[in-house]
Amino acid sequence: MAARKPLPLFDKILIANRGEIALRIQRACREMGIKTVVVHSEADSEAKYVRLADESVCIGPAAPAQSYLNMPAIIAAAEVTDAQAIHPGYGFLSENADFAEKVESSGFVFIGPKAETIRMMGDKVNAKALMTKAGVPCVPGSEGALSEEPMEILKIARQVGYPVIIKAAGGGGGRGMRVVNTEAALLSAVALTRAEAESAFGNSTVYMERFLANPRHIEIQVLADAHKNAVWLSDRDCSMQRRHQKIIEEAPAADIPVRTLTKIGDRCAEACRKIGYLGAGTFEFLYQDGEFFFIEMNTRIQVEHPVTEMITGVDIVQEQIKIAAGHKMTLRQRDIVRHGHSIECRINAEDPETFAPSPGRITSYHAPGGPGIRVDSHVYHNYFVPPHYDSMIGKIISYGDTREQAIARMRVALSEMVVGGIKTNLDLHQDLLIDENFVRSNYSIHYLEERMAHRKSVK
Ligand code: ADP
Repeated sequence: MAARKPLPLFDKILIANRGEIALRIQRACREMGIKTVVVHSEADSEAKYVRLADESVCIGPAAPAQSYLNMPAIIAAAEVTDAQAIHPGYGFLSENADFAEKVESSGFVFIGPKAETIRMMGDKVNAKALMTKAGVPCVPGSEGALSEEPMEILKIARQVGYPVIIKAAGGGGGRGMRVVNTEAALLSAVALTRAEAESAFGNSTVYMERFLANPRHIEIQVLADAHKNAVWLSDRDCSMQRRHQKIIEEAPAADIPVRTLTKIGDRCAEACRKIGYLGAGTFEFLYQDGEFFFIEMNTRIQVEHPVTEMITGVDIVQEQIKIAAGHKMTLRQRDIVRHGHSIECRINAEDPETFAPSPGRITSYHAPGGPGIRVDSHVYHNYFVPPHYDSMIGKIISYGDTREQAIARMRVALSEMVVGGIKTNLDLHQDLLIDENFVRSNYSIHYLEERMAHRKSVK
């Protein structure tokens, strides 16, 4: 029998996203010789990545529901441009199983896992059950969804131990969770979270976990192909958060014994093989007292993927594309060696005090550079930050042989960066990069909020 010819890659990919990730995906495609179609809203028609695309299609007005979440318009755009595959980026429709299904049933390739996997993992209650079965440890809490029965809820909380956190099964982006410190507050908190979850995610299912006092957020990046190969690409520490949202990420995480990390990484890769996972994904954990507890899986590319790319040399977006085209991964676990250290600062257009978005025109812009500095951003001088979308306007990623060098380079980069005309969190990043606890890697997920509360109280 003749050897099978390697599968061709796609000729043309449609990018169903905006901002820095649309540009990131476009860069990967162009490097691979793949043509790009960018869909955009009326608010984004002037964006540079739209102009750089081989083709672009306006899919609706600024409001996301009418453009970036408009499935028929996106699929019609793929039809008229003859794109073969759709990359959903992150946010928007990236973890929408119905979209993945519609893309495939319309004859296109969805660059991501199968719709059934997205559906399974999108429900955090299901995801936890599945991970427990696959031997991945989870945060102690309710076994599955909380019942409607008040006595039952009170009983579970007593067993779990206060404080507890009530979380929406369909939640995401740091929304749909509520910490409860006392029994007196429990039932009303459950009712409120249920109501919010119903209106925000169309799913009122909630579950309960012990609220961990001092954990770090550590995650494992995975890649899995359609030929039963799965690898994990080291870890990331994303503990610097406010309102459950990450603002600084780094790789690798400090002070995790190699054996503990290898054990959890291998379990993640094994879980991917077991569930027939396809593409790039992330297992998120809380890590406390030397133990990992699974909280959820993200079935898409993540904002913080560059820090992993910097220390492993793997282009995760290109891997996603090759895997979606049916290629067998050439990467083997033994080939994945991490080198050095990488840090990412998310630059947001927001008020540094209130975190309220600060859209508007960027009247002056200067991006940093130099050895070990990567800037992933779609903005430029005179760019108008539209008010309709996420406030992140870009990311600075630093790389060094050591964590110290990555920190030093990031400090220089932050001091060079100029974004005028709008408010940003650049000052906060500069502050954090010289914060003694950050420098000593002595911080948990609660650190930033505690630090801000402390500063407010001494002001
Ligand atoms: P989302 O999908 O909204 O990102 P996650 O389940 O990943 O929600 O949780 C986001 C963040 O919320 C975590 O990184 C952590 O900071 C906090 N968190 C979630 N569960 C717990 C818990 N059981 N104890 C303490 N903090 C938690």
